[in-house]
Amino acid sequence: MPFAPLADALRRALVDIVGPAHVLDDPSITGGFARDWTGRFAGSTAAVVRPGSTAEVAAVLVACAGAGVAVVPQGGNTGLVAGGVALGGELTLSLTRLDHIAPVEPVSAQVTAGAGVTLAALRRAASAAGLDFAVDLAARDTATIGGMVATNAGGLHVIRYGPMRAQLVGVEAVLSTGAVIGDLRGLLKDNTGYHWPSLLCGSEGTLAVVTRARLRLVPRPAEHAMALLAVADAATAVGVTAALRHSLPDVHAIELMTAAGVGLVCDTLGLPPPFARPAPFVVLVEAAGAPGVLERLAATVGVIAGVDDTAVAVEPDRRAMLWRYREAHTEAIARLGPAHKLDVTLPGPALGAFLPEVSELVTRLRPEARVWLFGHAGDGNVHVNVTGVEAGDDEVDAAVLELVAERGGSISAEHGIGRAKLAFLHLNRTPDELAAMRAVKRALDPAGILNPGVLLPGG
Ligand SMILES: Cc1cc2nc3c(=O)[nH]c(=O)nc-3n(C[C@H](O)[C@H](O)[C@H](O)COP(=O)(O)OP(=O)(O)OC[C@H]3O[C@@H](n4cnc5c(N)ncnc54)[C@H](O)[C@@H]3O)c2cc1C
Repeated sequence: MPFAPLADALRRALVDIVGPAHVLDDPSITGGFARDWTGRFAGSTAAVVRPGSTAEVAAVLVACAGAGVAVVPQGGNTGLVAGGVALGGELTLSLTRLDHIAPVEPVSAQVTAGAGVTLAALRRAASAAGLDFAVDLAARDTATIGGMVATNAGGLHVIRYGPMRAQLVGVEAVLSTGAVIGDLRGLLKDNTGYHWPSLLCGSEGTLAVVTRARLRLVPRPAEHAMALLAVADAATAVGVTAALRHSLPDVHAIELMTAAGVGLVCDTLGLPPPFARPAPFVVLVEAAGAPGVLERLAATVGVIAGVDDTAVAVEPDRRAMLWRYREAHTEAIARLGPAHKLDVTLPGPALGAFLPEVSELVTRLRPEARVWLFGHAGDGNVHVNVTGVEAGDDEVDAAVLELVAERGGSISAEHGIGRAKLAFLHLNRTPDELAAMRAVKRALDPAGILNPGVLLPGG
């Protein structure tokens, strides 16, 4: 359906709901809200509206639905698939003012957090209560709980704790009708019908606006230890990853990098190389648990074949330094210009062959392109980043994602579909599944105002 621009009457209604300070329509201010983190996608927004409560979110949605104005929910705007930015003049609903964190509830080890709470703030609150939040990712200072629920964020510890969906005990969300659904009681068992946390987690703002989340926390490990492992090729890297995953007690993270990515990070950030001789592939492994973690890590790594060199860290500063090699990949690649970011999972047995195959495929199609491979190897998730290709040139994306689907993988491991992957969803979802997804969308968002054009082709 066509959407109307922001009329004076709607603007006045929005100002009445959230106050004049929270309706922004100066393009010099709103422009940043309509440009994605990668710089590949930029558009315009009619206005940025910043509600301060669930009731205000509901009233804004009712006003927009009545006026036929499309709404793009936005948290920290760190999403990598252009799902949270208005590209065609939609209204941006910024949820960052919903930043209240309730006291950690110690009996259940759960916390209720507003959608606008940053991951870093939540992690600090958990830590102050002697607990941990299980999801972590490099955009922690800006990414919000609402955005992480909406994208079912993955991150560094999925092999141990699962993604955001596994942490979400309850949710409060607002439909475009203004109805508030869900609950924050924190019940671990509640078989009373459709499970809103499961449905809304990963729905990318197309079904409802998440306003609060009830999250489980996990015990804080007593000790951490980590190592970078130098290996000769992709198949060995995957073999080392599997061995670690299956034999390392307290495995906390297993990440993958290549010589090219580590070199880029070192050049960009002025870091020293981690090994005397550059390693073609680097596996990062972190273990965390009861005292003796370093000894258990050393014993496990010591018997794994194919590890040519190691760099070990135990102290927090040194661990942070080793993590920089991996976590700074996104930032270092971004400095080369807008990248095509393909975030895929392969079945474990297919990963080793896929890594060289995908590099060859891209280079054959676009000899001038650079391919950067890194990711969460422990769960088969590799980020295929391609630079040196025009922002609007989708041929490389299509070829890589078709290869992934042929190999039995997912075209979106953790970032979502957004707009960037919309044309490729059919590679993983059948027409019947897409029809069922559209029916769910129509039922929950009858006015069709929530993130039209995101996640669902033609939706
Ligand atoms: C350096 C870097 C590293 C990253 N690492 C990872 C990683 O390891 N794992 C991973 O999964 N992702 C990663 N990401 C991607 C990103 O951080 C996640 O997708 C995150 O969940 C987005 O949160 P956000 O608050 O920024 O959401 P936004 O970008 O604002 O929005 C993302 C999507 O959620 C919707 N949305 C936002 N808030 C709400 C709400 N309250 N209700 C309903 N819908 C909403 C938006 O409409 C959009 O579709 C990384 C990004 C960067 C820049």
